[in-house]
Amino acid sequence: MRSSPRCLAKTRNGTPCMSPAVKGKHRCRMHGGAKGTGAPKGNQNALKHGAYTRESQEFFNEIRELLRSCSDTLLQLQNDELPRKNTNRKRRSGRD
Ligand SMILES: [Zn+2]
Repeated sequence: MRSSPRCLAKTRNGTPCMSPAVKGKHRCRMHGGAKGTGAPKGNQNALKHGAYTRESQEFFNEIRELLRSCSDTLLQLQNDELPRKNTNRKRRSGRD
């Protein structure tokens, strides 16, 4: 399958490897995509400020979603208010 993601590791020729990448990874099995490669989950060997930890990323995603829903609500409120100003609703006279 040509459409499958390819390994772009640089070979000794200087060309990209182009072998099929391991599922869920960006590299082929020869270039670091193999099972068991990479740091174990939760390892903090390279932790400096924690801004890119899974936890803080999830936190920021939540904040982002919250902000988006807030702005959506605000937009909806604005859109609801605009036509109300322009439409002449029939006033109830109360003498019917
Ligand atoms: Zn490769």
